[in-house]
Amino acid sequence: MSKLTLGIIGGGQLGSMLAAAANKLEIKTIIFCDDFDAPAQKFSDEFIYGNYDDQNKINEFANKTDVITFEFENIPYKTLNEINKFKPVLPKPSVNRIIQHRLTEKDFINKLNIRTTQYVSIKNKSQINALQDLLPGILKTTTLGYDGKGQYTINSMDDLNILNIDFSKGYVLEKLIKLKKEISIIITRFSNKKYEVYEPIENVHEDKILKHSTIPADINDKILNQSKSWAIQIAEELKYVGTLCVEFFIDRNENLYVNEIAPRVHNSGHLTINAYNVSQFENHVRAVCKLRQIPLKKISNAKMINLIGDQITVYRNKKFNPNEFFFDYLKKEIKNKRKMGHLTTLAK
Ligand code: ADP
Ligand code: MG
Repeated sequence: MSKLTLGIIGGGQLGSMLAAAANKLEIKTIIFCDDFDAPAQKFSDEFIYGNYDDQNKINEFANKTDVITFEFENIPYKTLNEINKFKPVLPKPSVNRIIQHRLTEKDFINKLNIRTTQYVSIKNKSQINALQDLLPGILKTTTLGYDGKGQYTINSMDDLNILNIDFSKGYVLEKLIKLKKEISIIITRFSNKKYEVYEPIENVHEDKILKHSTIPADINDKILNQSKSWAIQIAEELKYVGTLCVEFFIDRNENLYVNEIAPRVHNSGHLTINAYNVSQFENHVRAVCKLRQIPLKKISNAKMINLIGDQITVYRNKKFNPNEFFFDYLKKEIKNKRKMGHLTTLAK
């Protein structure tokens, strides 16, 4: 029997880890990416370089695959929808359309009676004058933000006047939560009511970039059950196929809020590679390629640390203990704030 071929759009570290998981399952991978130096090409069988709106290149890629998925949510909806007419794209492009826009994403979550922070759509600066209740707040671009990019903390109108924000783009203004902690739930949905949910992961951000993730999360049972059931509800409602991450805030009064949804594998789930029998990456490949669902089993408690910018350098020459697992994303250049690798440590 010839091998199944999985197409992956996007060639960063998430693409690399998806390709590595597919390889383990004897599935061939082709990466499509708009970065000529995409690190995932080192982990995949084939690489096609092109822009995400270059329909000819995309078609060439799609024709070589059996099923297509993506490692980031900012691919134009039109591109995904065109491919989906002749090759299955999973998760479905309609999921992406909801989630790649912060406003439709938050409206979707609220319609399910799931709590988010208070938010308002912002089209111009003067609107914010009448929204003092939402200050201090965070102004976020509605599209294309990640790792805190396109976000501004606004304490007062004075802050807004100092910042030179381009209001030709759409924004949402969100009330700032007095955070106690942040957690995430990773869930892989295979089909109707068939899913595997990982336990909540506790996340610490520095400078709006994830710094470390730990299991078990130090949370009470009510939050544990609520976060799991909200993640399941979201995945079911979207009729999602593959791995999805829900990011949550917990405030100082123990209220739980959904911050955002990532329709893909997620940085906070890197520890699942070593801490579980099946990782978030393998589960994603299993779900989108219609392979068997395996019940999740935890192997160990764990902590993952992101190696950002030149933090990677010392690790490249370090000796590791048997319970430490170092991943180098093999990116061509070290850049400030760029995720270069991670280290997962299993509890002994
Ligand atoms: P991104 O898409 O860049 O991940 P997020 O909306 O998840 O953007 O914000 C990044 C981080 O900024 C969050 O994980 C959290 O630490 C902080 N943050 C964002 N929104 C709020 C808020 N409303 N209240 C408190 N902290 C916030
Ligand atoms: Mg986030």
